[in-house]
Amino acid sequence: MSDSDHPEHRRHTQEVGLERLSLVASAIRNMVLILDDTGAIQWANPGFEEYTGYLLRDICGAHPKDLFNGPATDPDKVSRICHKLLLAQPFEEDILLYTRPGTPFWVHIYGVPIGAEQGVLPGFIAVMTNISDRKHSERGLRIAASVFDRSHEAILISDQNNRILDVNPAFSRITGYSRSDVLGLNPSILSSGRHSPAYYRSMWQRIERTDHWRGEIWNRRKSGEEFVELLSVSRVHLDEPGRYYHVASFTDITALKNHAKDLDRAVNYDELTGLPNRQLLEDRLRDAQTHADRQHKNLSVCYLDLDGFEAINDSFGHAAGNEILRILASRLAQTLRSGDTVARIGGDEFGVILQSEDHDSVYERMLASINEPLDPGVGTGPITLTASLGITRYPADSADAEGLIRHADQAMYSAKEKGRNLLHFFDPELNEHRRQRRQQLTEISQALENEEFELYFQPQVRIAGCEVVGFEALVRWNHPQKGLLLPAEFLTTLEGSHLEVPLGQWVLKEAIYQMNLWQAAGEDLSVSINISAQHLMDQSFTRYLESYLHSHPAIEPRQITLEVLESTALDDIRRARNVLARCQDLGFRIALDDFGTGFSSLTYLRTLPVDLVKIDKSFVRNMLDDASDRAIVESVIFLGQRFTHPILAEGVETLDHARALRQLGCDYIQGYGIARPMPASEIQEWLRQWHQQTKIEGNVLEPASGRQSR
Ligand code: C2E
Ligand code: CA
Ligand code: CA
Repeated sequence: MSDSDHPEHRRHTQEVGLERLSLVASAIRNMVLILDDTGAIQWANPGFEEYTGYLLRDICGAHPKDLFNGPATDPDKVSRICHKLLLAQPFEEDILLYTRPGTPFWVHIYGVPIGAEQGVLPGFIAVMTNISDRKHSERGLRIAASVFDRSHEAILISDQNNRILDVNPAFSRITGYSRSDVLGLNPSILSSGRHSPAYYRSMWQRIERTDHWRGEIWNRRKSGEEFVELLSVSRVHLDEPGRYYHVASFTDITALKNHAKDLDRAVNYDELTGLPNRQLLEDRLRDAQTHADRQHKNLSVCYLDLDGFEAINDSFGHAAGNEILRILASRLAQTLRSGDTVARIGGDEFGVILQSEDHDSVYERMLASINEPLDPGVGTGPITLTASLGITRYPADSADAEGLIRHADQAMYSAKEKGRNLLHFFDPELNEHRRQRRQQLTEISQALENEEFELYFQPQVRIAGCEVVGFEALVRWNHPQKGLLLPAEFLTTLEGSHLEVPLGQWVLKEAIYQMNLWQAAGEDLSVSINISAQHLMDQSFTRYLESYLHSHPAIEPRQITLEVLESTALDDIRRARNVLARCQDLGFRIALDDFGTGFSSLTYLRTLPVDLVKIDKSFVRNMLDDASDRAIVESVIFLGQRFTHPILAEGVETLDHARALRQLGCDYIQGYGIARPMPASEIQEWLRQWHQQTKIEGNVLEPASGRQSR
């Protein structure tokens, strides 16, 4: 028996071994238990006591499985450990245990058999490391991993050099690239080429600055198909300074985009032809205007309308009509250059915006492309069409988008009027003129309502005897802002408008009303009333005339002279003759106004029933100085005498004129030389003075003072 086999010695060395073990175990942070060969606790280190709350003196001799088992402790692991203890084999396990107060904790436990080799009694030493933290982050990682794997978003992780480190299954689903296809590559393999380098540059600049970028990117799948993704890129920094990764996640929003595009199509495009519709045309026109302003460039807008398209529709049917529109739409689109737009804005109407140079030749090409025969393929055979184009140019025409289209539309109507299959350019000045005319017409109709018109009266005098034979009623407009307006300032606007007849009727009514007032005051005055040609030819002219007379029975028709102008409106001379004859039948007198200024003076003189001829003031004014004017005045007077029509000279500005006219045999005169036109209220006073003066002076041809002058 050796020294070491001696029981006393053995006990000693065992105690020394255990002591040493305990010493080491006390110094380390791990939890350490020493178990005997039955698995009962023999010793625990302070780390153990501290962490679990069990003190050695309380648990000595107890079995660990009785102490630390808790509700979530894995029983399999426990029995595995017990089994190893039984076989005196080392064991190692991660296991969830519970502290004395009941808090669960994860430990990594490993146990090794000890015994004679270590100079101790057979048993186990179990070292436990608290792995709760690791377990925690492991769980986080597991969750993260399942997110990575199961996410519907594609996730791509790349390193500092943007080499792909990992991609998830969704990435492969969306892009068609497997993980092994892309590992180590740059994500730019997905690039569609749709974005400029500047786009990517600004994206990376943003990531540098903020560690984040989000936006839409067009990429390309492995199959070559393009798709849009909503991409978000984050730069993830690690603890080590200067080390980071990129995590990119994206979803495929192509379907969403397509849906939006479908919606956009429905709102902005014409279904039949696929061309932009009117709304999109206007949008683009607004953009084009902004662009033209900035670049100091011109653009033009065209309204194109097919000629006689209804007839095609009617005779060949709608299917043929639609096919024709489709064919023409694509022909028109082909004549355009980049930046130009053709839209379908109505049944057979198209709108065009040209931004490129040399617009005229494009429009010529468009007309030509429409003129080319086409066959809609529904048994009609080839058809040849024409179109009318109305064009306006910006900024010469400075209207807004809607205005430009409207102007092009107006010009198109002019093209139709001129004879179809041609272009007509909108004239902004003419338009301005029309606009002013429209505005004045509105004002005039309001003026009629507000009774802003007034009649002035100018005396007409028989040269022989200086007798006042009547007054010409001359219309005036007391404009609320502009003051008293003469007919020259509004009659041209009125001419040919729907207001010409209403104003004429107002004059008639007002003149008769005035005569009535005078009559009531004891003055039987005659009045000459200017009747415009349109008014005279109005269907109801004589009927109205009769009704006025009817309501003023005291007025004799003989007191009223209707002054009729030579005018092209009297072209229907037979009708004019009938109307005037009817007026004469009713008892009115007829004067031929402004005689000599028209082309058909003689025809009128011969054809129309006339009681008086008025020589126009333009001849009278210069008759004293201008021999040919004097000759005209002479021949008119001569003619009148031959036709036995009395002659009145108007525009008699001086008494010298009056004397000369008297010598030529003129019967009546009217002019500033006698009196200027005056308001009705001044007539009676003027008459009184006139009578007094002629009584004293006897003859109007003598110079006289105190005459009304206006
Ligand atoms: P008109 O029928 O030839 O009328 C005569 C015009 O000559 C009037 O101009 C009158 O003021 C102007 N006048 C009269 N004496 C002289 C003169 O000595 N020298 C000159 N330079 N001018 C003289 P007003 O009132 O401006 O009327 C212009 C024209 O307007 C008229 O020419 C007539 O054609 C038209 N007009 C006036 N009132 C009416 C109306 O009630 N109905 C229609 N349809 N036309 C009217
Ligand atoms: Ca007149
Ligand atoms: Ca006249």
